[in-house]
Amino acid sequence: MANFRITILPGDGIGPEIVAEGVKVLKAIEELYHHHFEIKEALIGGISLDQTGIPLPDETVASCQASDAVLLGAVGGPKWDQNPGHLRPEAGLLGIRKKLGLYANLRPATAFESLVDASTLKPEVISGVDLLVVRELTGGIYFGHKERREVNGVAEAVDTLHYNEKEIERIAHTAFRLARLRRNKVTSVDKANVMESSRLWREVVIRVAKEYPDVELEHVLVDACAMQLIRTPKHFDVIVTENLFGDILSDEAAMLTGSIGMLASASLGEGTFGLYEPVHGSAPDIAGQGIANPIATILSVAMMLKYSLGLKVEADLIELAVKSVLEKGYRTGDIASTGDEVKGTVEMGQLIIEEMKALKK
Ligand code: NAD
Repeated sequence: MANFRITILPGDGIGPEIVAEGVKVLKAIEELYHHHFEIKEALIGGISLDQTGIPLPDETVASCQASDAVLLGAVGGPKWDQNPGHLRPEAGLLGIRKKLGLYANLRPATAFESLVDASTLKPEVISGVDLLVVRELTGGIYFGHKERREVNGVAEAVDTLHYNEKEIERIAHTAFRLARLRRNKVTSVDKANVMESSRLWREVVIRVAKEYPDVELEHVLVDACAMQLIRTPKHFDVIVTENLFGDILSDEAAMLTGSIGMLASASLGEGTFGLYEPVHGSAPDIAGQGIANPIATILSVAMMLKYSLGLKVEADLIELAVKSVLEKGYRTGDIASTGDEVKGTVEMGQLIIEEMKALKK
């Protein structure tokens, strides 16, 4: 039995509906394994603007900092779209990531056998895919020197890509540690044939790898990786890469396996602390209708258990229950085909919890 503190940030739109299902899954884990989750809810995004006038109150940051992990729904909606930048819901999201020092973004792509036909790729290419893209989030070209200038009457723009060895070291350690929880393989992606920052990246990753002799390391150039992700995605376990390459490759990997309503994510900082959230947004078009797919959030809870709380067996149970419910043919609207029995948000959450209980027996 273990005690954990978790802050939940439901946010806007479908956020509260899907986070409620995530919390029910946590309660089921409490019951099944006799852990204790002390769950505290806090404000972020549009709802926070409405109630406090700002998108990220200090109390929210303090609650997250005092927690072992954070579960976030989504923020944003048309109501706040005309607000100035610092008073937009998204400012809350960027603010919390920064305040919590989250430098590693994790995006898994997992093929569910019962949904392989939903992919644009052939079923035999998708079947069995289970990979994790680890993207460096706080360095690289997004944070380098930016300049607009004119030289001899010709407009120019400059963005510099900067990394130091400490930034590379910590993300490499994250990737190797995660690989140990998976299939012990890391693919480091760079452009070391052309870019100096990539050559430093490769040197540092090789150095860090010596501390993980049980984990296999390979280096793949980013262009080759983009091709291989489409051709033989099963080849990959953990892919680690810098910010810009990771931005592109994680979206490419996400699209291998289908609906946005299924995609989980995590952002990790120092130690085991992490913020977990579905990849999708607040879906204002379906908010309040009880039809949102809660699976991305429930799979984000599974990631939280595995990567922040050290509860791998419990996380595996959630993933297995999701898989099994899908195999039985249950679908929410976003992943349904003609003839499928369509379930709502609460029903889908309940089916997954019942399956967890049945599988645990
Ligand atoms: P979105 O992801 O919210 O929705 C895109 C489409 O996917 C919509 O048709 C929606 O109904 C559907 N969808 C999304 N999640 C679903 C789910 N769980 N189940 C079923 N269908 C689902 O993206 P958008 O429409 O571009 O943005 C809507 C709002 O969300 C905007 O205000 C945007 O700024 C915000 N947003 C927030 C985040 C975040 O909080 N991390 C991320 C992206 C967008």
